[in-house]
Amino acid sequence: MANMSPKKNPMPHQDPQVRAANFNEVALGYTREQAMDEAARCLHCKNHPCVSGCPVQIRIPDFIAKVAEGDFEAAYQIIAADSALPAVCGRVCPQETQCESKCVRGIKAESVGIGRLERFVADWHNANATEKAVPPAANGHKVAVIGSGPAGLTCAGDLARKGYAVTVFEALHLAGGVLVYGIPEFRLPKSIVQKEVDGLKDLGVKIETNMVVGRSITIDELMEEGGFEAVFIGSGAGLPMFMHIPGENLKGVYSANEFLTRINLMKAYREGSDTPIMDLKGKKVAVVGGGNVAMDAARCSKRLGADVHIIYRRSEAELPARAEEVEHAKEEGIVFKTLTNPTAVLGYNNPDDKRDPKNGSVIGIRCVEMELGEPDASGRRRPIVKEGSDFEMEMDCVIMALGTSPNPLIKSTTRGLEINRKGGIIVNEEGLTSREGVYAGGDAVTGAATVILAMGAGKTAAKAIDEYLSRK
Ligand code: FAD
Ligand code: SF4
Ligand code: SF4
Repeated sequence: MANMSPKKNPMPHQDPQVRAANFNEVALGYTREQAMDEAARCLHCKNHPCVSGCPVQIRIPDFIAKVAEGDFEAAYQIIAADSALPAVCGRVCPQETQCESKCVRGIKAESVGIGRLERFVADWHNANATEKAVPPAANGHKVAVIGSGPAGLTCAGDLARKGYAVTVFEALHLAGGVLVYGIPEFRLPKSIVQKEVDGLKDLGVKIETNMVVGRSITIDELMEEGGFEAVFIGSGAGLPMFMHIPGENLKGVYSANEFLTRINLMKAYREGSDTPIMDLKGKKVAVVGGGNVAMDAARCSKRLGADVHIIYRRSEAELPARAEEVEHAKEEGIVFKTLTNPTAVLGYNNPDDKRDPKNGSVIGIRCVEMELGEPDASGRRRPIVKEGSDFEMEMDCVIMALGTSPNPLIKSTTRGLEINRKGGIIVNEEGLTSREGVYAGGDAVTGAATVILAMGAGKTAAKAIDEYLSRK
């Protein structure tokens, strides 16, 4: 008999006061009993609309049925048939706009907690599985994957399971892409990403870190001299955008990408770390933007002891970040200053003493108030400046979280690769670029998007590469 409770089983969380001072995971995950109770809320709809909301079409009612029976390994195998990173997606997928937005239970009450169940199943498997992946027989073909984010890891895994000799070339010193350098530990523990990377190594995938393709080696060299018959580009969209307002080059202004990389990848907040970050204890931080990246930068700043303001030019209803992240940020004491846009970063200038170390540092921001006009091309109401509404706020640090675009390095060092006007690599529906044997997917093609879409693109390209090389 279905559990007709209108509400999802709540997710246990760390207390907001406690977690605002540590980097441990915020959401603690369902217990076995909570998971089975939540699974009993699924009606096993014949036409399963939830599946159409999942970009990789996981057989959601089937895996949930296994959870309800308590057969968690069977549930895992169903999810794993379509998703390479279930422990990651169960945590960071925007479920409320994807699978859960289509759940019939969501029409009159709360949808089934599909993401929470996926996370439970993946964590159960990771805690209990003992078998190691075994590399299949080699098929004699060599493929290079550029970038080790979700797109690259998925493509590499699918090809390795078919016997391809896959080498992943990663610019940073650790594999995982945004999953390690962008999304903070308190949302996605790095041990989960490491486990996925280790699983690929068990399958025989080689991971070459500190290899900036386009500098250390080019795609042309990989194909012409390295013996790679196909290449998948999953290099993401790591180039930050700025506002181009006065004062953006002052000391204490960061792009969110740099700020998060220093914290998540380089652990800059720890004593003796290789890279510094300014001491934010008791300081005032403004994070400009309203997406997931802005929430992550704000919540990291909070954990480093700062008093944090999110500055966003539209209203709260238009915030692009996941509702859950906004709620968590508010619980942790982050202040939302919406309908506000910065016009300048203000700096300290002491012309009498050029050696003053504070010279050139941020002391505040100047902003204008905004109001919403007619919808623009994005469908959201356009923010319009309220004349004469200028005001200033004291700040010690400003973090720009305004979006990112693909880095032009690979395009500029690869023959015959076409890109669109936003810098995304142009591909067909199979992920094939304008260059034979070169495929691409994820943020490098779409611009900043989501983990699950990047994974889906890696999967599509792996299938196409397999078909292409099987014909050779
Ligand atoms: P990436 O994850 O960016 O990986 C690309 C990799 O390629 C990187 O490791 C990079 O170092 C490497 N690389 C780049 N250039 C080269 C080169 N020339 N040579 C070698 N290697 C190279 N999505 C969600 O679904 N949910 C979320 O909650 C969420 N939160 C986010 C929070 C932050 C802070 C950020 C930045 C993004 C977030 N996203 C989220 C978006 C999501 O992480 C991305 O859409 C996804 O990671 C894209 O995957 P990818 O594999 O295309 O690229
Ligand atoms: Fe939902 Fe994401 Fe899982 Fe698909 S992968 S079922 S969208 S949580
Ligand atoms: Fe279950 Fe909701 Fe999917 Fe129906 S739509 S099968 S209730 S998860």
